[in-house]
Amino acid sequence: MRTAAVVGAGMAGLAVAGALSRTGWRVVLLERGERIAAPPTALVLWANGRRALESLDPDGGWSAIASPLADGGIRRPDGQWLVTPRDATPTHAVVHLEDLFDALVAGLGDDVEIRTGFEVTSVRVGRQQRPVLGDGRTSVEADLVVAADGIDSAIRRVLAPEAAAVGSGFAAWQAVIPSYRVPAGFSAGERVDARSSAGEAVGAGSSAAEAVGTGFSAGETLGAGYRFVSVPLGERAAGKGGVYWVATAAGAPRPEPPAQQLALLRRWFGDWHEPVGALLDATDPAELVPQEVRELRPLPRTYAFGSGPGGVVLLGDAAHAMPHHLGQGACLAFEDAATLRSLTAPAAPGPELVAAIEEYSRVRRPRTTSVVRQTRRMSAVVQARGRLALRARDAALNHPRLLSQAPDTDWSPPD
Ligand SMILES: Cc1cc2nc3c(=O)[nH]c(=O)nc-3n(C[C@H](O)[C@H](O)[C@H](O)COP(=O)(O)OP(=O)(O)OC[C@H]3O[C@@H](n4cnc5c(N)ncnc54)[C@H](O)[C@@H]3O)c2cc1C
Repeated sequence: MRTAAVVGAGMAGLAVAGALSRTGWRVVLLERGERIAAPPTALVLWANGRRALESLDPDGGWSAIASPLADGGIRRPDGQWLVTPRDATPTHAVVHLEDLFDALVAGLGDDVEIRTGFEVTSVRVGRQQRPVLGDGRTSVEADLVVAADGIDSAIRRVLAPEAAAVGSGFAAWQAVIPSYRVPAGFSAGERVDARSSAGEAVGAGSSAAEAVGTGFSAGETLGAGYRFVSVPLGERAAGKGGVYWVATAAGAPRPEPPAQQLALLRRWFGDWHEPVGALLDATDPAELVPQEVRELRPLPRTYAFGSGPGGVVLLGDAAHAMPHHLGQGACLAFEDAATLRSLTAPAAPGPELVAAIEEYSRVRRPRTTSVVRQTRRMSAVVQARGRLALRARDAALNHPRLLSQAPDTDWSPPD
């Protein structure tokens, strides 16, 4: 039987391990943590990510855990609209990570062998040998190795040392507020009454831009180097529903304990339109997930490394970690998994499998490079400070190339 070793039980590793197992691979999943654990946050699933998940596991029950994402538009800190809300696109969704991880773990079935507490520290490839992984005590050999071990991938550091994990110049804070603590009056997002005649986004200074939103609704707000996004979760999310928010600030991550970081966020965002202040006030420091935003620069030259009758592929953040501004990191990981599953499904170890993994890199590298480029354009928009830069930002937000070429619309599963 064909064998695969998947390294990392994050979203990417779980998705690909289940999918390979369902297409006839004997899979071992290696995770350095003592258990598989979902971060206590949520994720926006754009149309591409959702399509990928559905193709990976049509029986995954995704619609039961994902709630439709309302378009809350984009505002300035004073509440003025930069981009007015459009009708919700039913394919976009938000999902609590506990629910997503539960569904992905259920999708592993009984055939995937899970080894937790296994930290891969070495990888060996060669012309005549199958790839071999080690943790310093034992080794695991397989026809196919999938490195889904995140931005600091030990495997990528050996095979593609040209790609370095670097800070993107931002810090991010995420939290989920359970429904019983969501501020009264918070709503999923509303359409504004005053819209431009075309019903499109309005620019700064236009009369429609004066249409200050009614306040307590979800959506995105952009300040000078600061950003705040709030998204209501479905009532059933992680058994407690609630609201997910993510705040981003240009600069380094903060060293203070969570309570002080939350106090700092309340100061930075305190005079922003509601619900920003109300959501921060309703957040418990224990719910705060702070992190430095990082990315790979440059991306690895290839995502595939042949070894004997098979080889190693990079997948998810291990291959193309990027800032979260377009919310595409996990969606692209699911695309990777769907592509790899489809290409390797019919491939026997030997020339067929080697060709399949080369094709994986040939297909995935241009796709992910293009989304990384779009994300970097968005980084410049989010990072804008100073009057001129902010005017350029407001113009860019209404530029069709920034908004209409959304990376989620142009991808379909390979089969
Ligand atoms: C603030 C923020 C908001 C985001 N929002 C979105 C969004 O809305 N939509 C979206 O699509 N994406 C979003 N992303 C991106 C998304 O979170 C990542 O792309 C995704 O988590 C990557 O998953 P992964 O499985 O590749 O890596 P990881 O989640 O990093 O998982 C890697 C796994 O490998 C394990 N591991 C690491 N090293 C080893 C080793 N040597 N041996 C064994 N195991 C190992 C780790 O313990 C971990 O379990 C966001 C990111 C941030 C920072």
